[in-house]
Amino acid sequence: MNAFRPAIRAMHGYTPGEQPQDRRYVKLNTNENPYPPSPRVAQALMQAVGAELRLYPDPVADVLRHTAAAVYDVSPEQIVVGNGSDDLLTMLVRACLGPGDRIAYPVPTYSLYDTLVALQEAEAVRLPFPSDFSLPAELGRARARLTIVCNPNSPSGTLTPTEELGRLAREVEGLLVVDEAYADFADDNALRLLRECDNVVVLRTLSKSYSLAGLRVGLAFAAPPVIAELMKVKDSYNVNRLSIVAGVAALEDQAWMQTNVARIRATRARLIAALRERGFEVADSHSNFVLARRPGVSQRGTYEALKEGGVLVRWFGIDGLEDALRITVGTDDEVDALLAALSG
Ligand SMILES: *Cc1c(COP(=O)(O)O)cnc(C)c1O
Repeated sequence: MNAFRPAIRAMHGYTPGEQPQDRRYVKLNTNENPYPPSPRVAQALMQAVGAELRLYPDPVADVLRHTAAAVYDVSPEQIVVGNGSDDLLTMLVRACLGPGDRIAYPVPTYSLYDTLVALQEAEAVRLPFPSDFSLPAELGRARARLTIVCNPNSPSGTLTPTEELGRLAREVEGLLVVDEAYADFADDNALRLLRECDNVVVLRTLSKSYSLAGLRVGLAFAAPPVIAELMKVKDSYNVNRLSIVAGVAALEDQAWMQTNVARIRATRARLIAALRERGFEVADSHSNFVLARRPGVSQRGTYEALKEGGVLVRWFGIDGLEDALRITVGTDDEVDALLAALSG
């Protein structure tokens, strides 16, 4: 059969973290929130299920845009809603990159970027982070249509100061996308750059801090002309009715999100201290996961032993990360289970 483009046949699909359906694990591998979403989400969903599911959703999810605009102090014209922020990344890459067009990002980072680039047959300028995970100096000079900085970065958990991102935005020729999936767990974020720079796109997701990974809601913030272009490439009904009402309810309960974030940050401090005591090298984390290293020692065996013992963490097994485990900050009990399994 000769149906598929050579680029598709040649590429590997994106490999998500394991989502095992067979057995219950202490699941610390894909940075889900260990706490449930706001009870207001379930209430809103119950009402929505009983109402209008036979009708298409609002193509632009205006009620959610308005809620998000109020929460984040921007205008609704500065927002496009996605079916998760993965959908927003897809829209950005589709809108900006054709065959041979350039995109730049520091690595290691969120590996979905590589997959989206391959789909477009675009050219990725992948610049290695130095060991302290500061931004590679060449990033601003890559002459790319899109530059992506995942901040806080995954899998390192490190944070680039917003002032540096502002400098980078002025240096790049195209858009600077700041993927802020974990921003609620950090002390700073890049939203204020929207007021100074018309080429900055900030991506947020409700999957992590708002505990809504199962419903798929992402938000992109940018200048209205950028949003207008993205609207053209999105699927017409990219966010379903239930996700829209759940997103509104979750955003309206900031206190619930903040309480869970505070708990996760406290557990994070305890986890980092305990891992360091056990001889791991752990950078300070600004996210809801930590990267634990034993420099030069493959962590494959540790990953496998933990899995055997019912604790799932992420081992990437790729160049430069062989000796590292990425561990999601769970509840205190889950972290205790992890630490017990590490000792056992
Ligand atoms: C989790 C994650 C996303 C995806 O978020 P969804 O809204 O669930 O699609 C995007 N970027 C990074 C860096 C992430 O870790």
